This record gives sequence, C-alpha cells and structure tokens, in this order.
Amino acid sequence: MISWGTGDFMETKETLLLKLGEVVLKGLNRRAFEDRLLSNVSRRLRRYGSFQIYMRQSTIYVEPLGVDCDMDAAFDAARQVFGVVRVARAMPCERDPEAIREAAAHYLAADFAKARTFKVETKRADKQYPMNSIQVSQAVGGLLAETFPDVRAEMRNPDLTVYVEIREKAAYVHTPSVTGAGGLPVGMGGRALSLISGGLDSPVASWMIARRGVELELIHFVSPPYTSPQAQDKVLQLARLLTASCGRMKIHIVPFTRIQEEIRKHCPEAYFTLIMRRFMMRLAQSVAKQSGVTALVTGESLGQVASQTMKALAVTESVVSVPVLRPLIGMDKVDIIHMAQRIGTYETSILPYEDCCTVFTPRHPATRPALSEVEAAEAALDVETLCAEALSGTEWQWVKP
Ligand code: ATP
Ligand code: MG
Repeated sequence: MISWGTGDFMETKETLLLKLGEVVLKGLNRRAFEDRLLSNVSRRLRRYGSFQIYMRQSTIYVEPLGVDCDMDAAFDAARQVFGVVRVARAMPCERDPEAIREAAAHYLAADFAKARTFKVETKRADKQYPMNSIQVSQAVGGLLAETFPDVRAEMRNPDLTVYVEIREKAAYVHTPSVTGAGGLPVGMGGRALSLISGGLDSPVASWMIARRGVELELIHFVSPPYTSPQAQDKVLQLARLLTASCGRMKIHIVPFTRIQEEIRKHCPEAYFTLIMRRFMMRLAQSVAKQSGVTALVTGESLGQVASQTMKALAVTESVVSVPVLRPLIGMDKVDIIHMAQRIGTYETSILPYEDCCTVFTPRHPATRPALSEVEAAEAALDVETLCAEALSGTEWQWVKP
C-alpha cells in the first residue's frame, strides 16, 4: 500500500502561498532576510484578520485562522510586500490523487465551467513523495477528465491550467499565481530620507528605493500661502499609498515660504530654482542626520527639466555630503508614468495642485550653471539662519496604511 505521507494535515481553508525572490539568494544572511520578510508580511496582513503565517521551503504560508479573514484584501496586500515575487491562492488537501481531484473539482468548479480544455501541472517540493511530478499530473488529470467529461485534456495552450504543489504536510491546488512586488524586505537595506513632492516622479523614486529593502522617511517642503493645504494633503495621500509597500513612514513637513521669498527678493531669477533646490538638500541632510538616516532620495531624472541637467545636479548636490540616490536618473518620462500606474500613485499624482517648486519658476532658468556663480548669487542670503528657522518650524507625523 502506498503511503501518501499525509502527516497532520487537517484544515481545508483557502491559503495564500507567497514565493520569495532574491531573498533565497542570500547566503549567510538568509535567515535574517526571511525573518524580516515574515514580520513585514504579518504586520501588513494584520488588519485583514487573524492568520497563521510561517515559512517552509522558500514559501510563506498564510492560513486564515478565523472565518472573518478578508482573503481578497490579504491577497492584494501580500502582492505589495517587497521580497515577495509571486502569490497564489490555493486550496490545501490530503496528498493522494483522489483527494487532489476532489479539492480541484470543488475549488476550481467555476474555472472548469468556463473552460473547454485543461491540463494539470505539478511541482513536488517533497521529493520523498511516492510519485514524480508527471505521474501526479497524469493521475489527477485523468480523474478530473472523468469528473468534467465536457472539458478535454490539452497540453498546449489549454484554457485552464490546474497547478498542484506537493508539499510537506499537504497538497495545494491553485490557478496561476500572480506577480508580487519583488525586491528585498524593507528594513534590510538601511534607511533613507526621500524628498517627496506631489508630482509623478518622487513617489516612484521612493517606491524603487524601498524595493531594495530600504526603510524610508519622507520629507516635504511647503510654502503657504503659495501652496495650498490640498497640495499637502495630496502628498500625504501619496505617502499613504506607498505604505502598502513601504510600511509606515515618518513624514517631515518643512516650512519653506520664507526661504523662497528671500531667494526671489535677493537672487537672480535664472538661479531661483537651483538655489531653492540647494536649500532643500541642506535641510533634508539636517533632518536625515537628526533621524540617523544615511542617504537622500530624489525623483530627479537626467535632462527632464533645467534643474536636472548634469551641471545643475552637480550644483545641487555640492551642498551635501550624504549620498543622494536618484533611481529615476536614466528613465524616460513615459517609463516613469507606466511605473506610477503600476504602483497605483498615478491618479493621485496628476491631481492639479501647486508644488513649491512651481511657485516662483524662472522664465529662463540656467541649464548650465557654474557653481561659482550660483554660490556668489547665494551669498546675498543668510543661509544658516534661514535653514535654522525652517528646521525649527519642521513638524513630523506618522503615515500609516
Ligand atoms: P516630481 O514629479 O516628483 O515633483 P519633478 O519632475 O517635478 O519631480 P522637480 O520639481 O524639479 O522635479 O523636483 C525634483 C525633485 O525634488 C523631486 O523629484 C523631489 O524629490 C524633490 N522635490 C521637489 N519639490 C519638493 C517638495 N515640495 N518637497 C520635497 N521634495 C521636493
Ligand atoms: Mg515636482
């Protein structure tokens, strides 16, 4: 008699299977990456019910503990956690072909009703299992063909592929898995402070850096009454959208009105934007240092606007000593737009509110500024006092999902 090794399998509740990506490549650090990912997933799913969440064989299992778990929401949330490359909704069952047939017939009844052709594809994580993958597919496929006589087995381009995974304690039946956010678990790549405006670029830049495992804080400059409360709300809304992937974040709100007015009063118009950006960088660096954060992030992209030419970036960057990460530097605007659509920030970013960057924009901004000229222009200002004032008026709050 064949032993299917059904172990202590008891539950028949829909389960999420989360597949890990780069995390599995981490040698000695792997355990730390896995632990972090597990705790990030747990935290992100907590609000959708009570789950048992554990890791085995490079897969995270999310099993609902109560009847009131919101599996749709948990599935969407799991897809957005960095470190997860694919997510499947699956039905566990005993590991023998008859039980797998029964689970598939129930769980995928609606899919079978729509399909004219199907096939079974099996993966065997447990190599002790008495059949190989092809044998399982054949056995389960044969049984399902009997159950659904109107649906034909077809190996090439079937309407429906039934996935079977033979794992340690149970078999799992599912339809195709979907892609997750990929990347590395937030918290494993250090911390950075991201300069976020209400535009398209900086939310995407923040998302990209967080995807490399970096825990973010955010900083936003406001210039009331030139910028409106709605503009600030829009940024908070963008930040909230990012929390689905980045986790909760601190956002620092810096009053920037006086600095902008002083620049307008005392500096040549062609340098308005550049000098303003230099102030942003200085202030961001100060906030970063206070928070123990070691890098800045911006949404700058080479050549996109006058203040993002190579020379302009050098002038901007020369006032800080911390690394400035610019993940969009080589991206075209259309690529950035696609990315914003993909991560769900696009619709909010295109809402029409003023950013302080667009308040006093010069008609003819310098595109090839000489550092010495900008420094000379800036000498008309009391940089230190202006920065100290802005910092003393800076407030922060948590942004939570
Ligand atoms: P975005 O679409 O993100 O607003 P942009 O193309 O409009 O970017 P700029 O306005 O020149 O570019 O700003 C360049 C970068 O400076 C932004 O990507 C962002 O990182 C930062 N930045 C601009 N305005 C602000 C602001 N009000 N608060 C914080 N950071 C800002
Ligand atoms: Mg902008």
